[in-house]
Amino acid sequence: MYLELSIIGSGSKGNSIYIGSDCCRFLIDAGFSMKETARRLDIIGVDICSIDAIFITHEHGDHTKGAGPMSRKHKIPIYSTPTTFKAEIKNKFHESVDVTPGEVINLKGIKLNPFSVPHDARNPVGYQVEYCNKLIGIVTDLGISTTLIENRIMDLDLLVVESNHDYKMLMTGKYPWVLKQRIKSNYGHLSNNACADLIKKVYSSKLKRIYLSHISEENNTYSKAYQVVLKDMEKYLEKDRVLEILRIARQEMPSAILRLQ
Ligand SMILES: [Zn+2]
Ligand SMILES: [Zn+2]
Repeated sequence: MYLELSIIGSGSKGNSIYIGSDCCRFLIDAGFSMKETARRLDIIGVDICSIDAIFITHEHGDHTKGAGPMSRKHKIPIYSTPTTFKAEIKNKFHESVDVTPGEVINLKGIKLNPFSVPHDARNPVGYQVEYCNKLIGIVTDLGISTTLIENRIMDLDLLVVESNHDYKMLMTGKYPWVLKQRIKSNYGHLSNNACADLIKKVYSSKLKRIYLSHISEENNTYSKAYQVVLKDMEKYLEKDRVLEILRIARQEMPSAILRLQ
């Protein structure tokens, strides 16, 4: 029995995460076109036809672009909150399954626990995924952390967390003021420093991997996000341990599958 994960891609141009086990396979978000998702899944050795379900965290295009076509062509049910479905009226799905934050979904033995996150969408959620005593937490697109989020991503084996922007780059960058305000608001995106603070709060010696995700192309760099979090984690951990577990989730290519067993 195992639980495995690959970040299919992460960033403002598309987000999707593959999770699989011996009993089923699913995606969290479908922000790439169907063709691109199939291509990336193929790279990690997964056939798009074998996907059993797609869970959508919120209605923004970078999380939903391929959901409709994939659902219709491959008859994949889409799981989301009812208000997210309402915001996504342009998409017709093969099957829509309502999700309620706090109510655990059992997908062929895998437990998915959706929890609310503060973000400028209708009813956005993060996910805690549990199978055979392994626990994964996924929390991207959040303006600030909350006690609820911290409780849901404690004692994990694997964490996918947003490290969206470098505050200084955002504030001195070319984005219009209104957009800067939105990104740094409590309903926007998490900065590198806020991400480092969150990791410190929820760090567990069980953790095998942390993926810094949804890194902004305009207001951040992979190395900046990595260095900020690395330096902070070095304050309470051996450097070798940090180097072992900390990774960047990339926009342009999928990560190798990490299997927990
Ligand atoms: Zn997003
Ligand atoms: Zn979003």
